[in-house]
Amino acid sequence: MHRKEYFMPLEIVRNDITKMKVDAIVNAADESLLGGGGVDGAIHRAAGAGLLAECRTLGGCKTGMAQITGGYNLPAKYVIHTVGPIYNDGKHGEKALLESCYRESLALAKEHNCETVAFPLISSGVYGYPKDQALKVAIDVISDFLLENEMTVYIVIFDKDTYQISEKLFSDIAEYIDDNYVDEHTDYRRERIRMNALPSMAPCARRKKSDIDSFEMCECKAMAVGSGLDDALSQMDESFSEMLLRKIDERGMTDAQCYKKANIDRKLFSKIRSDVNYKPSKPTVLAFAISLELTLAETKDMLMKAGFALSHSNKFDIIIEYFIKNGNYNIFEINEALFAFDQSLLGA
Ligand code: ADP
Repeated sequence: MHRKEYFMPLEIVRNDITKMKVDAIVNAADESLLGGGGVDGAIHRAAGAGLLAECRTLGGCKTGMAQITGGYNLPAKYVIHTVGPIYNDGKHGEKALLESCYRESLALAKEHNCETVAFPLISSGVYGYPKDQALKVAIDVISDFLLENEMTVYIVIFDKDTYQISEKLFSDIAEYIDDNYVDEHTDYRRERIRMNALPSMAPCARRKKSDIDSFEMCECKAMAVGSGLDDALSQMDESFSEMLLRKIDERGMTDAQCYKKANIDRKLFSKIRSDVNYKPSKPTVLAFAISLELTLAETKDMLMKAGFALSHSNKFDIIIEYFIKNGNYNIFEINEALFAFDQSLLGA
């Protein structure tokens, strides 16, 4: 499997779960634990007869609960069997039961010191749980768990259709991208024409008042003050690393709360903390901006400190902006959307 330099604690991958080289895979079993169709059948086929023999000794499993066995011929060491609810109309406690499946499975994985765990989308097959909602439950429970625990969790999606995140979210984001693409491309042309027409030193005057955020104010102030290199250097603001640590303090968060919520690896965080001039990647800055729930202006400020800006000519930036403007700071939902639009993910 593709290994990133800094792994993310929650990843959505497209794979056959029986192929996952992790400490534990989770099985969407039924209450008998004696094997069935779908992912259950695939896991039993790949694990071999030993798995069924061990399952027979367990005496079944209640809906919403989980049991653990060995992995036998699977690359995974353990199989955690959990029984998802059969979806009726959503008014029969299905959500609470599905949440419980993820929580119980994660608790068992933790008890067995698993560092890597892969989940299928429980209940989203023959049990009929709407896939977008099933994915949302998975992301919510797993992300809560990861705030308090060190583990890498994969949500393994088998079929292409399951990638469809909520239709509503999709069309809202798609619309937002369309609108902003058009605006930006029009503005960009106009802007170029104006830039060519104007003398070079009037960046503030050319902007609408509402567009001037703290970043642009600094830019203008620096330009007005002096021309020498020393002057320019003395105008240097706090660095990205300094701003990050300041914001963490202002928010009353611990470092760990911040990097976990950002889906950022601890090792990367300590590099940033110990190097005042650390140059992060753009997704890393944005991951922290989301974790700290920065406003759009603050986000732009933080990006600027790392040498980046938000642009309306790429989808990645527009999607981030969409979430920030809507006050949705759930990084896993944002990554779900980025993923759906084929963009690189935050916190990578
Ligand atoms: P349930 O009875 O809980 O609905 P299913 O096995 O019918 O369980 O389906 C659960 C999910 O697992 C579905 O989204 C299905 O597409 C997916 N799935 C089926 N086979 C595999 C596999 N080999 N690896 C990962 N996911 C799978």
